[in-house]
Amino acid sequence: MWNNDPKTDSRWVDVPSLLDTRKSRSTGCGLHECPACGNLWSLSVVRSAVEVLFRTVPVREGGVVVDHIVTGARTVDHCWCGVPLPGDALQSVTDNQARANAKSSLRLALSAIGEEPSIVEEIELLATKVSRSMLDRLRGERSRTKAAGVA
Ligand SMILES: [Zn+2]
Repeated sequence: MWNNDPKTDSRWVDVPSLLDTRKSRSTGCGLHECPACGNLWSLSVVRSAVEVLFRTVPVREGGVVVDHIVTGARTVDHCWCGVPLPGDALQSVTDNQARANAKSSLRLALSAIGEEPSIVEEIELLATKVSRSMLDRLRGERSRTKAAGVA
């Protein structure tokens, strides 16, 4: 839970250092409960090397998955809420800092999956269902082809 500072009208949480984090008897890994959102983490000594981790929900049209929407993103050193995981020293983190962390992770995730699908992928999808954006794209392709033919 966030602590309130009525003097500055800000909120903060304290993240304990790794040394002060409880160890799991079965795995030997640190067990950390995020002080801001309560998410439970098993802290592996080996951290993933990827730049950003994110979760998505599928978008279905007529039972067919046509897209994925990013609903959360984090770097390996942060919780989903943007508060850092335990490090070498105790950290005090404000809600503004946590929000900024979560937003920058979201930006990384969106740039990682936000590329325009190629026309080939869309034509393959035509076998299942034609969406508005596909139709527009295909119309654009056709008129460009026609223009090239006339010239
Ligand atoms: Zn959290």
